[in-house]
Amino acid sequence: MFSPEELRIPVHGDVRRDADVELLQRFAASVQERSRRMAGFPVNLEFDYGPLAPFLSMHLNNAGSPEQESEYGLDTKPFEQAVTAFFVELSGGSPDTVFGHLAHGGTEANLFAVYVARERYPDGVLFASREAHYSVPKIAKLLRMPHVAVDVDEHGVMDLDALGREIGGRGEPAIVVATVGTTGRGAVDDIPGIRRAASDAGVDEVFVHSDAAFGGPLAEFGQPRRPWSFPDGADSVSISGHKIIGSPLPSSVILVREVDADAIRRPGVAVGSDDDTIGGSRDALSPLLLWYALRELGRDGLAGRVRRCLEVTGHAVRRLAEAGLNPTRFPGGNVVLFDRPGDEVMSAWHLLDVDGRAHLSVMPHVTTDLVDQLCAEVTGRRT
Ligand SMILES: *Cc1c(COP(=O)(O)O)cnc(C)c1O
Repeated sequence: MFSPEELRIPVHGDVRRDADVELLQRFAASVQERSRRMAGFPVNLEFDYGPLAPFLSMHLNNAGSPEQESEYGLDTKPFEQAVTAFFVELSGGSPDTVFGHLAHGGTEANLFAVYVARERYPDGVLFASREAHYSVPKIAKLLRMPHVAVDVDEHGVMDLDALGREIGGRGEPAIVVATVGTTGRGAVDDIPGIRRAASDAGVDEVFVHSDAAFGGPLAEFGQPRRPWSFPDGADSVSISGHKIIGSPLPSSVILVREVDADAIRRPGVAVGSDDDTIGGSRDALSPLLLWYALRELGRDGLAGRVRRCLEVTGHAVRRLAEAGLNPTRFPGGNVVLFDRPGDEVMSAWHLLDVDGRAHLSVMPHVTTDLVDQLCAEVTGRRT
């Protein structure tokens, strides 16, 4: 919508504040218009952080450990701790034995989890399903770890027989990334089953990371509840802030065992605080955003939001079936795949293409009306 010329930063600063504010307003209006039909990406758009606007005029920085003030002194670490404590409780962890912080997004959260796992098991092999997030092979490369992509069953869930064979065949410690809600199909890997498969294969040194970026709250509050958290056998858990909760910035909470964090912590080197995160300077705005959203919602509000998403997903499956579009859904999930419409509809609705099918993600801003409108546009343009 803008040419590079229009956006180019001049050599000599040019005071055209009014024109630039007007340009940004046009951009905002266009993003708002295009967001109206957002049905493909697993991000919630139902939020308003207007009251937090004053924080755009200050620099807060959560450099270093979430649990200690740095020399910089202006931070939102108490809010970060409150948000982390909420997720520790949600994922059944004990505040005394779980260490957490906010990371920039699901990728950094996965990197931190696999990093502490690799420190615990330096010869560990990284296992994840073929449908795990694309950050996993990248992390294996960054950490120079052997990586095995494990086959999935017909629903997109990690195949436990295949996993057992791979683990047994290697005989090395196993670091397994279990995906709780795959980006493609919303499939949930079976964490207790992963532990059994490893132990049946004769390997006791096992670290399981639950990548619940997208599906943690769905697994916890869906019917039936699905195993995904610490009591279910996870050693670490990550949940995104910009997905089911919703935020203008990407963020993710990462929770690991305190003993694993102790092993990577370097005391005092991060502007006067311990260094036990990947980032140095860390985003201090996301803790405020998430704290504000979660204070409004509470645990019950989050549960209600998940239930509404699942109801709307049921509606979407019925409507798409009536329209003859062959919807499929991972049981209890909020992702629906259906016959791919033309490019114009795919792009207007921001739909992803998953193996030649269209991918609808029913996030909190997706209402039954929006689903009906999508169905009308898909069928209208097909005939
Ligand atoms: C979204 C997602 C991630 C990565 O999150 P980013 O914030 O995009 O880095 C990781 N895993 C799963 C399962 C996801 O859905």
